[in-house]
Amino acid sequence: MSLDAARKLIAAATRICVLTGAGISAESGIPTFRDALTGLWSKFRPEDLATPEAFERNPAIVWEWYANRRERVAMAKPNAGHRALVELERRAGRFTLVTQNVDGLHARAGSRNLVELHGNIARTRCFGCNRGLDESTMRPGTPPTCAHCGGYARPDVVWFGEMLSEEALQRGFEAARSCDLFLSIGTSTVVEPAASLPFLALEAGARVIEVNPDRTPLSDQAAIWLQGAAGAVLPDLVR
Ligand code: NAD
Ligand code: ZN
Repeated sequence: MSLDAARKLIAAATRICVLTGAGISAESGIPTFRDALTGLWSKFRPEDLATPEAFERNPAIVWEWYANRRERVAMAKPNAGHRALVELERRAGRFTLVTQNVDGLHARAGSRNLVELHGNIARTRCFGCNRGLDESTMRPGTPPTCAHCGGYARPDVVWFGEMLSEEALQRGFEAARSCDLFLSIGTSTVVEPAASLPFLALEAGARVIEVNPDRTPLSDQAAIWLQGAAGAVLPDLVR
């Protein structure tokens, strides 16, 4: 059975790299982008809300969308999937967790060697000069402005079309290239550059396990595809 085979790969691994996406937080009640654009937001596409162009066009609506998301994230709790990865890190030799999520749930669950590739929605920075801003509340309406340059406050996340932090990217690439086991969990494996990480690991000879209810461009190349929800599969995997 593939779960047993996956457990054996984990037991034999000495350097584990994990990539997570929005799917691992779905069971904490944080919708993936596709699922989030319902109700009031159904007339928008992610590109209308999560790009610098969208923010320049209409800072208030983008700010409001993120105020909404930030509130949901603050109320959410890490789930069994996040916790299983904490347990996996405790047992592993070398372990790096690379996440595309901006919800901070891995850190709150207790993961330590963590790379937040796309930033963190709980932080705010200046759209003009990039300084971190001390803006813990996000009230709807026009975003507050930076005392230094007058630019608008924005969430400290990476939008579509923006560069990732060079340091975060290097840590992610390094972990993917040097691991012997790669786990890809709850990610559609289409948003670059994160989507390249499992393929880099494959090229370097690592085995890949994928956890996702749906197939992705990675599924055919993964040694094992565990079809299911992260919160159900991961606790079984590390038990
Ligand atoms: P995605 O929305 O493109 O893909 C989500 C994947 O999760 C899909 O493949 C889906 O089949 C899978 N999935 C759904 N429910 C699952 C479950 N219970 N267990 C396991 N898998 C499940 O997400 P992505 O690949 O992370 O890329 C989208 C971008 O949007 C990212 O760059 C990310 O920064 C951002 N985003 C972040 C959050 C968050 O922080 N929680 C939420 C939405 C979007
Ligand atoms: Zn500024």
